[in-house]
Amino acid sequence: MSDKTFGFETLSVHAGAAPDPATGARALPIYQTTAYVFEDADHAAALFNLQTVGFIYSRLTNPTNAALEARLATLEGGRGCTVASSGHAAQVLALFPLMSPGAEIVASSRLYGGSLQQMKNTYPKFGWKAVIVDADQPENFKRAVTENTKAFFIESLANPGGVVSDIEAIARIAEASGVPLLVDNTLATPYLCKPIDYGATLIVHSTTKFLSGTGTSMGGAVVDSGKFDWSRGGKFPSLAGPEPAYHGLNFHETFGDMAYTFHSHAVGLRDLGPSQAPFNAWLTMLGIETLGLRMERHCANAAKVAQYLEKHPAVAWVNYAGLPSNKYNKLAKKYLPRGAGSIFTFGVKGGYDVGVRVVDGVELFSHLANIGDAKSLIIHPASTTHRQLSDEQRVAAGAGPDVLRLSIGIETVEDIIADLDQALAKATA
Ligand SMILES: *Cc1c(COP(=O)(O)O)cnc(C)c1O
Repeated sequence: MSDKTFGFETLSVHAGAAPDPATGARALPIYQTTAYVFEDADHAAALFNLQTVGFIYSRLTNPTNAALEARLATLEGGRGCTVASSGHAAQVLALFPLMSPGAEIVASSRLYGGSLQQMKNTYPKFGWKAVIVDADQPENFKRAVTENTKAFFIESLANPGGVVSDIEAIARIAEASGVPLLVDNTLATPYLCKPIDYGATLIVHSTTKFLSGTGTSMGGAVVDSGKFDWSRGGKFPSLAGPEPAYHGLNFHETFGDMAYTFHSHAVGLRDLGPSQAPFNAWLTMLGIETLGLRMERHCANAAKVAQYLEKHPAVAWVNYAGLPSNKYNKLAKKYLPRGAGSIFTFGVKGGYDVGVRVVDGVELFSHLANIGDAKSLIIHPASTTHRQLSDEQRVAAGAGPDVLRLSIGIETVEDIIADLDQALAKATA
């Protein structure tokens, strides 16, 4: 299938998944195998030398995972993709070819809390340093660059505060600084935003969320635009220098615009090992078939719920980038013209106690720590995901005592609103 002429919904259903050549099976088979028989000793040697493309062992490559990789690369407008066991695994995998001890990344302060934890507490154990900046002023990235900077990291639409990044402005600074821009596109999905169109180099996903879509499967992905010259400035020796693990092979010279993706499989997955289970890849492929339909409904429902909450007497504020009153509405119109996603926060009058009573009072919503499910979800960050932090840190992270985070599902919107209505009434009675 040539990808160029088809629309997003068509590609969501077909990209990467032609009928199975061996059996004619129309649905993608689950290749539940760890290993693949070699044709002969020469074939095996060529595979191990990366002289021929094929399957060796499912820690590196698997045909079901490869179908998901092809679909995600297509939907994001990228060149190649590597799937991983979770979004967090994908982030480590994404940075791994770029980093070494002493290397730095510059990251937005408005990233998902789990990503900030990973960067602040775990990356230093690898000798990596994350410099955290306020991404609302793109110039902050320029100020934070040093000779050790290897990447910028932002979220297109940030989890959870409805923050939209000015991708194009930050991409221009990355380009001028000679470093790739990594964009976590989990909350937007390629249906709402394609960061590569605005200059992003690498896209990371937690496919756990909207891509799988029904809260069944952990997974992550790294998509490479194929547009970054890894030999530029001698900054990326793993990609454009001799690789000791493959007899001095230079990935950039040998694989061109597939260098990054080949490295991610042949070195990243091989040595770090966070491969995705083929069953999860299969469920995620199934989920992506309805991505466009679901995102349309997610966004329409979220907009109506945000409007309802904005007028509710028990609600102090609503942070939804789709509302005209929102600080990020202009950026949302530019980067997310089909809708501002379905995850946002709001504040209840009465603070912590009322927040806790709302999560205890909902009946249709599920009180849990996930997002991007077909089902509507709610959490009170101060008493759960952010309870380890100090009061000050919580407020800085957008998780103050009054904050509730919603992930609006695809149910009948009147039912979603009615559930919040009764929970707010009970909580403030
Ligand atoms: C959930 C999430 C992650 C982490 O993904 P996991 O699949 O939970 O490991 C990273 N970034 C964002 C924006 C997320 O929402």
